[in-house]
Parts: sequence; C-alpha cells; structure tokens
Amino acid sequence: MTLRLRPCLLVHYHEISLKAGHRPMFLRYLRHNLDRATVDLQPVRVVQFPGRLMLDLEGNPTPEAVKERVTHVCGVANLALAQRVASQMDAIKAAVGRMIEGRQFESFRITARRAFQTYPLTSVEINRELGTFVLERVKTRVDLTNPALTIHVEVLPNETFIYSDREPGPGGLPVASSGTVVSLLSGGIDSPVAAWRMMKRGCRVEFVHFHSVPYLPVTSQQKARALVDRLTQWQFFSRLYLVPFGEIQREVVLSVPPPARVVVYRRLMVRIAEALARQTGAQALVTGESLGQVASQTLQNLARIDEAGMLPILRPLIGMDKQEITAQAQALGTVEISVAPAQDCCTLFVPKHPATRMAPEEVQGLEERLNLPALVKVGVEGAVLETFEFPKGAGPFPVSRRAPAAPEGSRSQ
Ligand code: ATP
Ligand code: MG
Repeated sequence: MTLRLRPCLLVHYHEISLKAGHRPMFLRYLRHNLDRATVDLQPVRVVQFPGRLMLDLEGNPTPEAVKERVTHVCGVANLALAQRVASQMDAIKAAVGRMIEGRQFESFRITARRAFQTYPLTSVEINRELGTFVLERVKTRVDLTNPALTIHVEVLPNETFIYSDREPGPGGLPVASSGTVVSLLSGGIDSPVAAWRMMKRGCRVEFVHFHSVPYLPVTSQQKARALVDRLTQWQFFSRLYLVPFGEIQREVVLSVPPPARVVVYRRLMVRIAEALARQTGAQALVTGESLGQVASQTLQNLARIDEAGMLPILRPLIGMDKQEITAQAQALGTVEISVAPAQDCCTLFVPKHPATRMAPEEVQGLEERLNLPALVKVGVEGAVLETFEFPKGAGPFPVSRRAPAAPEGSRSQ
C-alpha cells in the first residue's frame, strides 16, 4: 500500500464549542480570521470538520509560518501540525510509523480520540493497537502520566489526524464576533494589555491616543504606533486616531486647580473617544485602569470618569495588580515598547498630589468654567487617522454586524 500523508494544521476551539445556538456564527468569524491571518501564505484552505477546523497545507512551502500566524488567532484553543490519512488502521499505523521513524524517546503514550461512535474500534482499543505497534519498532516504554512523546490520533469518519506537538492558541472568541470597542491607548504598560484582552473576548479594537505635540516631543505617538503595530498581529487590521490634546490641556490648566486636573483630562478624553467611537460604530470604550493603582483610579474618580460619557467604559485590568499586568505585557511583547522613556501627555501640567475622591458637584463646578463642546471639537476634528495591516492583504474587517458569509466550497464531514 502506498501511504498518502497529507500535511495540515489542525485547530481546536473551546469556548466556541459551548455556544450551542450561535456556534455556526462564531465559526464563520473564526474561519474568516484564519483566512486573514494566512492571506499571504497561500495556498491555505480552511476546512471545517465536526468540532475542529483544518488548514490544508498540502503544497504549502511554509507550514511553520502558518502555524506561527495561527497562534495569534483568538478563539483558537490549541493547534498542531498534523498528518491526515484515511481512517483505516493500516494507514494510521503507517503514519505513526513514519512519525517515529529514526526517533528516540524514552517513553510515550498514544492519545486516541474517536470523533464518531461507529468506528469499529474504541479509543482504548486504538491506543492499545498503536501502542503495541510502536513498542515493536522502538526501544521505549509506555508512560501515561509523563510521556516524552505523546502521539495524538483523532479519528473522523473519513480521515484521521495524527500529530505529536500541540501548542496553545490565545483561546477566547474570534475577533469581531463580539463587536467593536475603542481603546484609549497611552504609551504605558497597561492600556495595550487591556486592548488585547478585549480582542480575546472577540472585540475588534480601534485605538485612540492623545498626544501633546508640540508641547511634548513626538515620542508618545511613536510608542502608540509601535504598540498598535504589535497588537495588529491579533486582529490583522487596526485604526489608530492620534488626537491633539496639548491645546485642550492648556485650556484646562487656565481654570482648573492642579489636584483636579487628571480627572478633568480623563473626562475630556472619554468625551472625545466617545465621539470617535460613534463615528466607527463602536459600542464601548476600553481603558487600562486598575483599581487603586494611581490617584485617578479610585472608585470615586472612576465613577466621575464614567459619568462623562454614555458608552460603557470597559476596564479589563480592574482587578489585576501591576505584576500580573506586566507579565501579560511581556508575553505579548508590548512591554519593551511601553517601558521606553517618553513623556505622556498626562505628565504635562500634572500635580504631584492629585485629588483621590472627587465629588460629582466638584467636577461639575470646575467644568462649567470650560467650553466643553469646543474642546471636544478641537480633539475630534484634529484627530489624524492611521491604519495598520498585518499580514499584507488582510484588509479591514467588514463593519457590518452580520457575520461573514460561509466561504464558497466549504465542506464538512
Ligand atoms: P497605562 O499604563 O495604560 O498608561 P496608567 O497606569 O499609566 O495606565 P493612567 O496614566 O492613569 O494609568 O491612565 C489610565 C488610562 O487612561 C490608561 O490605561 C489609558 O487607557 C487612558 N489614557 C491615559 N493617558 C492616555 C493617552 N495619552 N492617550 C490615550 N489614553 C490614555
Ligand atoms: Mg499612563
């Protein structure tokens, strides 16, 4: 018998499988994002099987590159470069034989899964038969708890997938399946992590960065660009609004005493971000605030910030401490960018001891001295939009709330 091994990338999802009624919709987003993540690495065809997706890598010259891209696709629980064979025991054995050929491993286990009940052998029987097959060929032993090599065998009606190394994906839900949010992105450590966590919850994230050019150098904008560039790896296309905030701050400084300025700035940021969010159809704002981390992040001051706008303000880091956030930023590769020295707009005209408990009347009284609509207008009209794309050709996600259509030629077993 000639063995026909066909390389592929096998993708498992977890949370999507729990979505009984809406699973097909989430899967359409996931497939669409897998297409976008690999658009420049063709030919990659995404095929749906019960409970898993497969990227067909037959003839693909760069399977490792495809794998790397898919580790950034939200909704993917784990992924593995696998071989596909016909679901017949001699073909499965031949594929396992090919996998262990010339390899030395002091222990192993077979982890077989039967994705349908009518296959003539149970998973236990498959494990046993393949285990014996391996033991006849390699000097090794079975270790079920801590094997040096795990051979996974997933048997579907017509095809079987065989692989050894499996990697975790980001998990969560596919980008865009939950809608759009606007992230307030400073150059700090926290806000990029907050934005990423919303991507992982299925959000398409648009970014707004407030800068104080010409009062401060352009470094904060460069950091914001570098951060968005990095985060685009998880959503493939991003929009960044660079908003001039220096003039607005000057106005605030003229009439608001130093301790109250941080909250007044933040409220102005919320109003401007909200106006931009309405233009793009976003349904919430996101910040990197964490309770108690700095003076502007007390419960009272967060409440004052919330009251400035109508949209919900999501704060995915609210219960995390700085160490946890920094560890996450390290894993994302944003921390190096964030820690580069730069003066944030909020370091400009900010006192050493900001007010920690501002009352609603106090903020209102101070804002009455400002021409808020005019200040918001300065920010919104002065905003400069930049776009980021990775990989080239991924293109923007359709803004429509409808899930992408099922691709032509889609098939399932
Ligand atoms: P980060 O590390 O994200 O800057 P932080 O701990 O320094 O957070 P603050 O400086 O108080 O906290 O900012 C709180 C949040 O306000 C930030 O996480 C971010 O979402 C938003 N923010 C602050 N400054 C800016 C800015 N210049 N542009 C856009 N958003 C900002
Ligand atoms: Mg900051």
